[in-house]
Amino acid sequence: MAAEQDYLTEVLAQAADGHEYQWLDEYHGNPNELLKIKHQCCFSFNLSPNQFKAGKRCYIHQRCGDDAN
Ligand SMILES: [Zn+2]
Repeated sequence: MAAEQDYLTEVLAQAADGHEYQWLDEYHGNPNELLKIKHQCCFSFNLSPNQFKAGKRCYIHQRCGDDAN
């Protein structure tokens, strides 16, 4: 596995809810580049690794988990 892909894996591994997300694009070395990511709700959207690290999440389910009831 390329070091670039390891970085994306690491970003997910460092987040408590990282297991709910899957990157659909390849990382090209720029942490601010928007990449396609898929949430467990099956909604996919564009997010940069830095935005994910800053806590940005699936924007149609911003309260996924918070507001389940
Ligand atoms: Zn969602």
